[in-house]
Amino acid sequence: MRAVVMQGLHQPLKVETLPDPTPEAGDVVVRVGRCGICGSDLHMTEDAAYGRGAGDVLGHEFAGEVVALGRGVEGLATGDLVSVIPLASCGACASCLAGEPAWCEHFGLQGGGYAEYAVTRPNQCVILPQSASLADGAIIEPLAVALHGVNMSGLRTGGRVLILGAGPIGLAVAFWARRAGAAKVVVQDIADHQRDRARVVVQDIADHQRDRALAMGASGFVADAADPVGAAERALGGKADIVFECVGVPGLIAQAVNQVRNRGTILLLGLCTRPDTFNSFAMLSKEVRLITSAFFTRQEYEAALDALDAGAAEPRHLVTGTITLDATPERFEALRRRTHDCKVLIAP
Ligand SMILES: [Zn+2]
Ligand SMILES: [Zn+2]
Repeated sequence: MRAVVMQGLHQPLKVETLPDPTPEAGDVVVRVGRCGICGSDLHMTEDAAYGRGAGDVLGHEFAGEVVALGRGVEGLATGDLVSVIPLASCGACASCLAGEPAWCEHFGLQGGGYAEYAVTRPNQCVILPQSASLADGAIIEPLAVALHGVNMSGLRTGGRVLILGAGPIGLAVAFWARRAGAAKVVVQDIADHQRDRARVVVQDIADHQRDRALAMGASGFVADAADPVGAAERALGGKADIVFECVGVPGLIAQAVNQVRNRGTILLLGLCTRPDTFNSFAMLSKEVRLITSAFFTRQEYEAALDALDAGAAEPRHLVTGTITLDATPERFEALRRRTHDCKVLIAP
C-alpha cells in the first residue's frame, strides 16, 4: 500500500510503499476514505515530546471501509463504513466499559490514517449511518475534542464565551457553545507569537477565518493584534464567563486571566508542550477556575456523529480542502504557516 511516512523530526514527510496490512486476531483493517490533518500531527514532527519518529505513519482523524477482520472480531462486517476513535484501548477494562478509553491502562494514540489502509480494533470503530459521509466520519474527532471541553467547562445558558484560536478546535468549540445556549460566542484569532513575531494580522486570512467562525455559530470574531484584550471585550460586551484556550502557546493562560471575569473559568484545550508562566496572584485575586480537557468519552464521540446525522451543517465548514496522498507532504508543510486552510482531508 501507499502511505505518507515520517522521515524523522523536522523532516518533510514522504510517500512510500509499505506492505499491505494483514489482520492479527482481534484486528480490523480499514481502507481509509478520508483522514484529517491535525495541528497535533504538525507538532508530532517538530517536538520529541510526542514520541513519534522515522517510519511512523501519522493520521488519527479517519474514517473508511472495513475490508478485513482478524479472528474473533464480532459486531463488524466487511463493507461497513466506520469512523475510527483514535484512542487505542483494550475495550474490556472498567474505564473502557464506562466509555472512557482515554483512561484505559493500555491507552495509546492510534495513528496510521495517512495511508491506503490502517489497522485498528473493533472497540474503536463507530459505524457510520447512511446520512454521514466519510468526510463527516473524519471530522468527528476534532468535534468530540471540542465537545468534551465544553462539557468540562460547566457552560450555562446565556453565558459569555471567548475562544482563543480560530483553528478547527476553536471553531468546533464555537459550534458546541452556541448549541449549549451561550448568548455570546466570540472567536479571537491568535497570531502565533513564535512564528509571527510582528503579530501582524493578515487581513485576507482573517477574513476567511471570520466567515468560517460565523458559519460555525460564533456571534463575533476579533483579530486585533494591537489591542487583543480590549477588542474581545468590546465584542463580548464585557469580560468572558469562560475563556477557551485552543492554541497551546506560552502566554495565553496569562492573557486568558486578563480576559475572564471574576470567578470565571479558563478551559485549556490547546496542547502546549513548552513550559508556560502566568501570575498566580492575578488568577487568585479573581478566583479564576482553571480546568484542563484532554480527549473525549465514547458518548461524546457518538454525540458528535449524532449531531451531523441530525443535519447539523455547520461543522462541514471546517473542511477547506481534500487532497491525494501524493499532495500530502507539500500541503503538510504549507500548513505550518498561517494559511487560508482550516481542516484539510486526505483522500488516499
Ligand atoms: Zn486531532
Ligand atoms: Zn481498557
